[in-house]
Amino acid sequence: MEYPVFDAHVDTLMRLASPQEYLQGNSRTQLDMPRALESSVSHLVTAICAEAEKEPDAAFISGISMYKDIVHSSAIKLYLMIEGCQPLVDHPRMNEIINMTSIVSLTWNGQNSLGGGIGTDTGLTEKGKRLAAELDKAGIILDVSHLCDRSRRDLLLLGLRTVATHCNCRAVHNTPRNLPDADILEIAASGGVVGITFVPYFLGGNASLDTIADHLEHLVELVGINYAGFGSDFDGVPNLPAGIKDCTSWPDILELLDKRGWSSDDIASVAGNNWRRVFLNN
Ligand SMILES: [Zn+2]
Repeated sequence: MEYPVFDAHVDTLMRLASPQEYLQGNSRTQLDMPRALESSVSHLVTAICAEAEKEPDAAFISGISMYKDIVHSSAIKLYLMIEGCQPLVDHPRMNEIINMTSIVSLTWNGQNSLGGGIGTDTGLTEKGKRLAAELDKAGIILDVSHLCDRSRRDLLLLGLRTVATHCNCRAVHNTPRNLPDADILEIAASGGVVGITFVPYFLGGNASLDTIADHLEHLVELVGINYAGFGSDFDGVPNLPAGIKDCTSWPDILELLDKRGWSSDDIASVAGNNWRRVFLNN
């Protein structure tokens, strides 16, 4: 059976040397349009993670222009995510960029003027809280994935809708990038979804298709079938779990769920329906 996949986090935009590499395919990135279509990917959240680059402002501008170059020719529905909002708030045409953005993470790893990301122990700044409220009002989704515990707590306390596009469960593997059960419950209560990610370091152990399913099953046991999804992080990490070659591996992941006894309705929910509900108006 084929399930349309909504992948809530890929870093491919930052890896492309030309729009053709995405549109016509290439052998360098873990994802491109022809391979994603072959794997029935219907929706992708493409992130601009400029704070991770040596020259964030330049990387931000080239990421935005790459997105503009591919979004209208893409046979897969694309959404823009800003991962780390410092280059956004520093940009002279911030509002224009916000208008094309569907989802943001206030920080990447480390500290910026909005709050503390992974590796820090600081909360959101007043500026960060204000921006979160403004973006939420504008219909933009707030992603907690890269926030440290204290900043994530501050964001959840604002009572806005939040999601985690690419995080796993701390109860299954204890690392700061994974979410404690209590926070997963709050995200779901806000109407958000948590996307299980393929980053081996966040899966823990000998990362494989099975460890992906273990995190997913913990998540579903905790919050129910309607608040779980995937955010692969393709092109965000050099190494992938055993059994995952690139974005053509989606059918293998979903087939494993079938083998573990999941119903086809439940597989369809986590493969795409839950994220589609969250992004309905974006
Ligand atoms: Zn990330």
